[in-house]
Amino acid sequence: MTGGRVVAAPAPGARVLDCAGADIAPGAVCAHTHLYSGLARYGMPAPVPTPTNFLEILGRVWWRLDRALDQESLRASARDAVARALLAGTTTLVDHHESPAFIEGSLAVLAGACEELGVRALLCYGATERNFGVEEARRGLAECVRAPPSARLRRLVGLHASFTVSDETLREAGRLARELSTVVHVHVAEDLADVDDARARGTRGPLERMLALDALPRGSILAHGVQMNEEEVALANAAGLWFVQNPRSNEGNRVGYPRALRHGTRVALGTDGWEADMEVEEAVLFRLAAAEGDDRAAGRLAAGHALVAENFGAAPEPLSVGAVGDVVVREQGRVRHVVVDGRVVVENGRLVAADMGAIADASRREASRLWQRMSAIH
Ligand SMILES: [Zn+2]
Repeated sequence: MTGGRVVAAPAPGARVLDCAGADIAPGAVCAHTHLYSGLARYGMPAPVPTPTNFLEILGRVWWRLDRALDQESLRASARDAVARALLAGTTTLVDHHESPAFIEGSLAVLAGACEELGVRALLCYGATERNFGVEEARRGLAECVRAPPSARLRRLVGLHASFTVSDETLREAGRLARELSTVVHVHVAEDLADVDDARARGTRGPLERMLALDALPRGSILAHGVQMNEEEVALANAAGLWFVQNPRSNEGNRVGYPRALRHGTRVALGTDGWEADMEVEEAVLFRLAAAEGDDRAAGRLAAGHALVAENFGAAPEPLSVGAVGDVVVREQGRVRHVVVDGRVVVENGRLVAADMGAIADASRREASRLWQRMSAIH
């Protein structure tokens, strides 16, 4: 590799990694996640009373967690999630971030964790009006502009979802994405609540609403699409949009299986905040797809590579000349080395830039502080 890309012949003096008896594969892509939920694994208290539907899960768990985040807890969360992704052989994370009490500077914290540990990432702040109104959305969009791009980082324009933003914010997100030559990353039709809201506003659904307001430049990323029909997926295909399926999250939130995505031409795989081990996520996808009679699930991971190549201007075929220099070396199925953008970030099963044990210790400390802050939010 040279300049972070795969080349036909190594430059003189290039470092050589021992890969004897191992398999070399492209690094996996997690096409939708939330680094802010990285501390949830450290004993997040169960909500009381137990949520009975999707909106209650958001309101009692994730929208309380995101409001409790501050700079230090976010940093610990991101480092933990990035470290686990790399150790599992995932080399790109497409993140969707929200921390309403710490908006300005939040993407710099995420970028810092990504650069330190060495993952490739696409970052955005998910603008919303659900806590403090249109001014909150304006600040969220402004934070997307501040995200520091680099060889390994791209900034996207984020929206939480159609049902928590006004027409004005949707229009502004599309305009801003075009100005920055980037795309929009948004949750779409994860649950019927999003569809019902768009219909109450006089549109046929959230996708039609956002397209009508010019909010989705070609290449924009739609997470979920559970409550979509074949006609809407065809509309997204024609508009050059990406879908991201998140099987564990959809099953856990009991929102259903995205049956219409089998008609999608560009559908990648995400974890929606679960640990970014894409082999585990794909195994759940295959189990659910088999139960649903969905025979199109096999191409999801490959689609993630195409999404990354498109956003980084690289050759689309992984491991070919001009492709991103993101590879995983496995020995008997276990991750031995991970290289991202030509930089060795995991060597002999251990992170190069930090120690996983120390990261987990910091996570435990920040998590107990975070649960306290969260308990004060209702
Ligand atoms: Zn999500």
